[in-house]
Amino acid sequence: ERIVGSESHEQEEWEERSLRPQRLTQYIGQKKVKDNLSVFIKAAKMREETLDHVLLYGPPGLGKTTLSMIIANEMGVNLRTTSGPAIERPGDLAAILTALEPGDVLFIDEIHRLNRSVEEVLYPAMEDYCLDIVIGKGPTARSVRLDLPPFTLVGATTRAGMLSAPLRDRFGVVSRLEYYTNEELGEIVERTAEVLEVPLIHEAGREIASRSRGTPRIANRLLRRVRDFAQVRGTGEVDVKVTKEALELLQVDPLGLDEIDHKLLGNIIEKFRGGPVGLDTLAATIGEESHTIEDVYEPFLLQLGFLQRTPRGRMVTPEAYKHLKLEVPKK
Ligand code: ADP
Repeated sequence: ERIVGSESHEQEEWEERSLRPQRLTQYIGQKKVKDNLSVFIKAAKMREETLDHVLLYGPPGLGKTTLSMIIANEMGVNLRTTSGPAIERPGDLAAILTALEPGDVLFIDEIHRLNRSVEEVLYPAMEDYCLDIVIGKGPTARSVRLDLPPFTLVGATTRAGMLSAPLRDRFGVVSRLEYYTNEELGEIVERTAEVLEVPLIHEAGREIASRSRGTPRIANRLLRRVRDFAQVRGTGEVDVKVTKEALELLQVDPLGLDEIDHKLLGNIIEKFRGGPVGLDTLAATIGEESHTIEDVYEPFLLQLGFLQRTPRGRMVTPEAYKHLKLEVPKK
């Protein structure tokens, strides 16, 4: 099981569910997004209207799914969850939409992966709360309009740019989630420790936070791994010593970079003299999917200023050389 990846197994999913904050006030960080949403939610409730459609974008693990649950909670409506790849045909989406109750929140994760024919069903549904259904085939085919209950679509994607323009334009609220600060992650780690009843020393929590690459999911994952380590090797208490040992064993460096980040940077340095190198070439040399690099690994390396995107490809910066304790080559 990877630390950084976005896929999670069953046990983790179960724990993640119990860790999810239920209310906007319990949701740590993302102040801008929260302030915005809370105004829109209040206004919609005052007018007794459905909340406008919301698009959330940002790297995996930053809290998009959690926010969709909170939105439903705050609006006092049901939440229906699905994902782009799960909706294969227009009929699948029609079935989901017709089963909604007035005001419900429909969450579509990875919404950029909806296929075109499904997307087209979504347009009138979002805009006018209706479905256009074609009955029959050939010359006798005719189209009927079916009314839907008003609903709120919450879409999540890693990059807003991956959405088609007509789909993006139909969202009234578009919010970008940012990487969390170490302080915010520290709070999240402490909250998680409380929920999981893990005895945690404050400084150890800070250490975990600072190695979590700005991402709550990773912070929670690291805490659980360190907890296991503390139980087996120590007294069960998560202190700084056990935390550092565990993170070293997990190959998570002081900035939160893992072995794949190191491989990625190392390869550009060794095989391409620091770059530029194209994404696909890079993906092939380290044996990862291009989109995994682009969605999961690269955004944090860009944020750290260790990687640069140029028209000719990815380049490693002098800061990255320094972090890897390598001499910066003179060009
Ligand atoms: P995404 O949908 O963006 O991939 P999730 O909503 O699944 O991310 O969040 C991953 C985990 O991180 C969740 O289990 C949740 O407990 C935790 N988390 C995310 N954002 C926050 C937050 N702002 N405050 C507390 N915990 C959070």
